[in-house]
Amino acid sequence: MSKFDVALPHVFKSGDSIKLKDFTSGPPEDLDFGKKAACKRIGLNAVEMAAMAKRLYAENQRSILLVLQGMDTAGKDGTIRSVMRGMNPTSCQVTSFKVPSAEELDHDFLWRCHNAAPRRGNIGIFNRSHYENVLVVRVHSLVPKSEWNKYYDHINDFEKLLSDNGTKVVKCFLHISKETQRERLQERVDVPEKHWKFNPGDLKERKLWPDYQRAYEDALSNCNTKHSPWHIIPSDKKWYRNLVISQLLKKVFTDLDPQFPAAEEDFRGLVVE
Ligand code: AMP
Ligand code: MG
Repeated sequence: MSKFDVALPHVFKSGDSIKLKDFTSGPPEDLDFGKKAACKRIGLNAVEMAAMAKRLYAENQRSILLVLQGMDTAGKDGTIRSVMRGMNPTSCQVTSFKVPSAEELDHDFLWRCHNAAPRRGNIGIFNRSHYENVLVVRVHSLVPKSEWNKYYDHINDFEKLLSDNGTKVVKCFLHISKETQRERLQERVDVPEKHWKFNPGDLKERKLWPDYQRAYEDALSNCNTKHSPWHIIPSDKKWYRNLVISQLLKKVFTDLDPQFPAAEEDFRGLVVE
């Protein structure tokens, strides 16, 4: 047990009704280390996880799916950059879900997500995910309530299917305060190198903050299952957010404990000419 393990996120029970105001978006006040120590730990974790990912790939039985959700500027891209460094790109795929294409809209909402789920031995990362269908779709009434209301059950069934098929689904909600989002959006306006990240539409979405928070509370409450629980990640400080997710993911790898498979036949003593 290292002092960094205190950084593991809250775990709440299946069936709990989540209220986001009960969860802090910043690091604990009594933390006895800072950014420098956290960044060092993240680097060490990355090395350990890369070694375990190699065994997961060789074993070719199970997989991991990291689902990242959060309000605009919560740091989904930054988390991936920081936590997944050192991973072999052959066995690690990031899928960023955008507004669905015409083809995607011609299928059920899970079709594109199922298609992007990691194959055996791989690590998949969803930057946004099937949860957008109970978030942006709900907030903007893109489909009627009678439709999106059914999606929670579909999502739980989908994640159970993945889980039964050997995929460990790890879901993180990157929790930020409204003030943190204001600061980060302002930075995107003020710093020329960040202009590319700024989308004026994000300001309209910001006005819908309470609607999104409510939609998130329902998504977290309704889809917090035993096989794939949600983790609420305090994300106001980027280094703390990255540390928590890095610790969480390292624990997932450690619990899976992937092993190099034994050779299919005994070729000891064989001389390669
Ligand atoms: P970004 O993550 O900043 O590149 O933005 C992607 C955009 O796609 C966000 O505004 C999402 O809300 C939107 N998006 C993702 N999935 C869906 C979906 N299923 N339906 C509608 N919009 C979506
Ligand atoms: Mg954006």
